[in-house]
Amino acid sequence: MADYIFNVARLLAQTSGQRRSVDVNAPPEAMDVPELVGSLWGTAQFTRLSDAVLVTGRMRGLARVPCARCTDDVEFELVFDLNDQFVPRTDPVRGGTLDPGDRWLLDPGHNLDLCDVLAEGAISALPPRVVCPGQCKEIWDDQSPADRPLDPRLAPLERLRREMLYEDGESHG
Ligand SMILES: [Zn+2]
Repeated sequence: MADYIFNVARLLAQTSGQRRSVDVNAPPEAMDVPELVGSLWGTAQFTRLSDAVLVTGRMRGLARVPCARCTDDVEFELVFDLNDQFVPRTDPVRGGTLDPGDRWLLDPGHNLDLCDVLAEGAISALPPRVVCPGQCKEIWDDQSPADRPLDPRLAPLERLRREMLYEDGESHG
C-alpha cells in the first residue's frame, strides 16, 4: 500500500488511547496541489479515540511559487501539523452508520487515506506572497505595501470587494 494510506482495522479493535506511529511519504501526484515539487513526508501518530482515530504529526515538503516581484520561481520548505479525526463508516462496536460530522471517513476496509488532509495542510501552509531572497527581498521590503503588486490569487477577491463597494455606494446614494 502507498505510504499515505494505512489500514487501521487493528487499532480500531483496541481500546481508547492506544497509539501507533507511521512514516508518511506522499508523492506530489497523490495531491492536487500544483505548488508541490516533491513528496510530503513526516511521522504521524494515530491515536485510538472512543469513536475515531486521531491523526497528529508534523509534515514537511518542498513547494515552488512565482516570486511576487519578478515572477521567477522560488522554492521553499513547507511545514505544517496534522490534527484530524477519521471515523469508520460503520460503528465497530454497536453497528449502524456513524455520522462523521466535520471529520473524515475511513474507507469500508478501514483504510485511512491521508491524501486529502495532506493537500489541505499544504495549501494552508502556503504563504500568501513569496519573494526571492536577495535583491527582490531588499526591494520588496523598501516598497510600501500599497505599491506592491497584488497576489494574482487574490485578484478575484479584490475585484469582488470593489464591486460590492461600488454597488453599495450606488444604492445608498
Ligand atoms: Zn524575485
